[in-house]
Amino acid sequence: MHSTFSDGTLTPFELIERAKSLKLSGISITDHDSVLAYTPDVFDFASEQEIELMTGVEFSCRFEETTIHILAYNFDPLADSIVTLCARHVQRRERRNKTILERLRGKGIIIDYDELVNSAKGAVGRPHIANALIKKGIVSTIQQAFDQLIGDSSPCYVPGESVTIPETLEVIHQAGGKAFIAHPHLVRKKKMVSRIVDLKIDGIEVYYAKFPPHRESGWLAMAKEKGLLISGGSDFHGDYKEKNPMGCSWVNKEAFNKICQ
Ligand code: AMP
Ligand code: ZN
Repeated sequence: MHSTFSDGTLTPFELIERAKSLKLSGISITDHDSVLAYTPDVFDFASEQEIELMTGVEFSCRFEETTIHILAYNFDPLADSIVTLCARHVQRRERRNKTILERLRGKGIIIDYDELVNSAKGAVGRPHIANALIKKGIVSTIQQAFDQLIGDSSPCYVPGESVTIPETLEVIHQAGGKAFIAHPHLVRKKKMVSRIVDLKIDGIEVYYAKFPPHRESGWLAMAKEKGLLISGGSDFHGDYKEKNPMGCSWVNKEAFNKICQ
């Protein structure tokens, strides 16, 4: 799930409170390209609330011209490798966001860069740009912003610089973490998932958002066949993705503990 350090609308503390009220026993906050959620105060609050908090982050990668998200779990958030990769993503996002805003300006839509940066605390991305477009009255929903302007096949889309999957996996492993392919359900070319998984990936996000069991069984079979770990998550973003309520997808304690080992 995502916090205000990327494109979520709840703070890490609010995520923990909500998890407690939903009677979840453990969670991971997996902001895009940022580990700023993981402060000592947040860990203390999680233990006060008796919520097991596993470190997490969702790294953006490029594989064969496609954006692939890699989830890292149970790593040291202060490890040099992780901190350095997150800093590289901040710079990548800065340059990319500026280019997206230039493309929008070409269409007569002016969004102030400083205002955009001030709207988020960590990784600033397209959902923040979508929000700015709503505030300006250019579109009325996030979906419309993606469909008409900034989605992958839309006129103002900019892929930005890429970070490869192998270099991301190396960083995660150096920090003692485990790497999972995120939401394979959303990858259009299914054979690509198999090729990615063979790149020293530790697990597959088998359970994702509100996908039905028949959309999970293939990924479960792949995880079993390749001897990989299993993860699951709601991809909760608060108001940014209202269709994914917290807890809509999950794994049992056995699977959670295997990731923590
Ligand atoms: P970024 O990391 O800046 O490229 O933004 C990616 C995020 O934008 C994804 O994680 C989604 O939350 C959101 N997103 C991507 N494509 C769409 C879409 N077509 N409609 C709505 N949200 C999207
Ligand atoms: Zn993702």
